Amino acid sequence: HELFVRLRADAADNDTAFAAIDCLSAIMDIAMEGMTLAYTHARERSSRTDAAYRLFSLVQNVSTERERQRALLLDWENTLLYTLAGHATGADNASLASSEFGLWFTHKGIPSFGESSETQQVGQLMARIDSRLQRATDEDPARRLTALPMIREDLATIRNLMTLLFERIGELDAGSDALTNLLNRRFLPTVLRREIELSTRNRTPFSLLLLDLDHFKAINDGHGHDAGDRALQHVAALLGQQTRGSDYLFRYGGEEFVVVLVAASESQAEVIAESLRRQIAQSPITLPNGQTLGLTASIGVAGHDGHPDYERLMARADAAMYAAKRQGRNRVVVADEALPEAPGRRALQR
Ligand code: GH3
Ligand code: MG
Ligand code: MG
Repeated sequence: HELFVRLRADAADNDTAFAAIDCLSAIMDIAMEGMTLAYTHARERSSRTDAAYRLFSLVQNVSTERERQRALLLDWENTLLYTLAGHATGADNASLASSEFGLWFTHKGIPSFGESSETQQVGQLMARIDSRLQRATDEDPARRLTALPMIREDLATIRNLMTLLFERIGELDAGSDALTNLLNRRFLPTVLRREIELSTRNRTPFSLLLLDLDHFKAINDGHGHDAGDRALQHVAALLGQQTRGSDYLFRYGGEEFVVVLVAASESQAEVIAESLRRQIAQSPITLPNGQTLGLTASIGVAGHDGHPDYERLMARADAAMYAAKRQGRNRVVVADEALPEAPGRRALQR
């Protein structure tokens, strides 16, 4: 409204004012549409992640599937050689996208791996290979083989990407991290979106802890990687004991954990975080050689502040965790409240 008023006041004449207002409302419509589209895309992405989560449990044997798809891709490459050398009939000359590998990738691979830059890249490489192949088969037979090196290079890239994608889901072990048995971070966005939705609908709070072990590199360097791994398992077990079954525990990175505390306000989360910190500091692990090893953690706490974007919640927890590091480690820091507290929120707090 303010913009309209000013345009009217500043314009040389009514026609100019009218044209400017017309233009402005068109721009605002486009911006609104852009926002709606962005929102829809984000929603679609999140339901695709959900689908990936469910479908992953359907990919029973990751290593068998990996070998099968490798072999299918090699088969296709062999047929390609025959095709380009002019030995194959039109029937053998199937595009990569419609080959058994291509079909598997589109229908099962993408939902199982989850949408990522790597899966996108495989899709783009397949399309490029198919268009090169099409052009080559239209050429006269003598020149066909010149397309081969480029196609084979793209196929090699696809093979590397597939190795990477399979490695990644292999590590997941049905969605959990193999070392600690906690959830893999891949599912954090799905869980947070869902919790934000529930929290908004039911007007219940929830909070996030981001926990990073202190001087962990020194543990690895001083006592070996196995000791480091034991320490991670130990902390994961403590997290399990100290939280409720309805909470979510994620291994977020090497020695970083995320705890989603459902139905907990920020100040309740702070109490839980403080007790976790104390537990970790008070229960050293015993190494195979009998030596004991003390651990400490820095914890950032952030209560959901009503913002619909989960990344913002993560960023607040992250900033709080770094503040804990800066203030000397082995401590809990609560995220600064960027927004004034919603009415009624106090009542939910202890
Ligand atoms: P800070 O107190 O600042 O967090 O220091 P830090 O040494 O813990 O932090 P930094 O992020 O520099 O180091 C994390 C180390 O964690 C790096 C890596 O050696 C180790 N690490 C990451 N993943 C694993 C793992 O799976 N097993 C083991 N044993 N160590 C890991
Ligand atoms: Mg770290
Ligand atoms: Mg650390």
